[in-house]
Amino acid sequence: QPVLAVVGRPNVGKSTLVNRILGRREAVVQDVSGVTRDRVAYDALWNGRRFTLLDTGGWEPGAKGMQAAISAQAETAMATADVIMLVVDGQVGATAVDEAVARTLRRADRPVILAATKVDDQRGENELSALWRLGLGEPHPVSGLHGRGSGDLLDLVIDAMPDSPRDDVDLEGGPRRVALVGKPNVGKSSLLNQLTGESRSVVDATAGTTTDPVDSVVEIDGETWKIVDTAGLRRKVGQASGTEYYASLRTKAAIEAAEVTVLLLDASEPISEQDLRVASQVADAGRALVLAMNKWDLVDEDRRHAMVRELERALVRFPWVERVNISARTGRAVQKLAPAMRTALENWDRRVPTGQLNQWLADVVAATPPPVRGGKQPKILYATQAQNRPPTFVLFTSGFLEAGYRRFLERKLRETFPLTGTPVQINVRVRE
Ligand code: GDP
Repeated sequence: QPVLAVVGRPNVGKSTLVNRILGRREAVVQDVSGVTRDRVAYDALWNGRRFTLLDTGGWEPGAKGMQAAISAQAETAMATADVIMLVVDGQVGATAVDEAVARTLRRADRPVILAATKVDDQRGENELSALWRLGLGEPHPVSGLHGRGSGDLLDLVIDAMPDSPRDDVDLEGGPRRVALVGKPNVGKSSLLNQLTGESRSVVDATAGTTTDPVDSVVEIDGETWKIVDTAGLRRKVGQASGTEYYASLRTKAAIEAAEVTVLLLDASEPISEQDLRVASQVADAGRALVLAMNKWDLVDEDRRHAMVRELERALVRFPWVERVNISARTGRAVQKLAPAMRTALENWDRRVPTGQLNQWLADVVAATPPPVRGGKQPKILYATQAQNRPPTFVLFTSGFLEAGYRRFLERKLRETFPLTGTPVQINVRVRE
């Protein structure tokens, strides 16, 4: 989601304005301690648009002097935000520090909005004209006292923002879409028969919506699901020689058309490279994943032991999958599929509130800072969740983060927030 950075000297009424924008909902986490204390990110919502509000507050008195601290704020804002708001005290007017910051911000290649606080009456508004000389366009008056002007200000902010990514999957609605994939003879059609046999109706429950004839709508455990491309399963694509290539294309298309993939493995046989390739495909496509160990009725004690070791090795790349043991032939535990798919999708949909995310980040980074590279300690400024489906996070940093450290962060993230069944993506934006 787009980022608004708020910059300004202490005591200009910045916090009051920030709290007003947030509706005071998140103001309690203002005192998060740790490395990111001087930049706090919040979720904000205005007119149905979500954005991240980055309060570049806090300057440490005596550390570098106010001038330097405010310039650092401006630099952070320019490097990481989509829109910048400079807050000045409308009663005091532009000070030398404000002018220095404005000079920096005039170089920004993104919109800068000038807000003048403490403008409580008409007389105050008349005095605003002096602020034009900051060279940031029209000063916009707000009153922290009455809240006057803050709605207009937010309208401007929203107008200046790039469009948020559209949530295509959200708009589609209807039953959640499942891909059923796996090697030939693993039991896909048997499972489909179990599911369609169990379900009362295989017609789309939502009247008026057209279901692609290659898809099947089934009811499992009281919930309706759409299984994509079941025509392919019924026709046994890929079993005739020479069509393997087309079968794999079809698998890929099914994964992409679905939100969650159920990958069937034959529990009675060793886990194959091909199975793992398909799991990677699902993760790379950013879809939720459930591993169904089928033919469980054939699994004896010895095989079970062997499988534990195989799974351990196979799943180092996907320690987060949801796993169920089923038998498509006997129908054993087939109903366990629904809760597994539900959990995976719930986590795939997950949005971690920005306040919680940054609190987590501060704790993790304080305990284990990123490794020094080229004699420099990269600093992680803050994080936001840019998207869900799958959860996608952006870390704003002052330097490159090694792949090993990113994996460490993902592991820690998964320890704190429920994310089983879904891949997550962590992107790093290095500020220049
Ligand atoms: P597909 O190619 O993945 O669609 O696999 P099928 O559903 O056609 O199943 C292939 C063979 O495995 C058939 O002979 C099924 O009866 C058998 N099969 C499927 N599921 C199970 C199971 O859970 N247990 C056992 N013992 N056999 C199964």
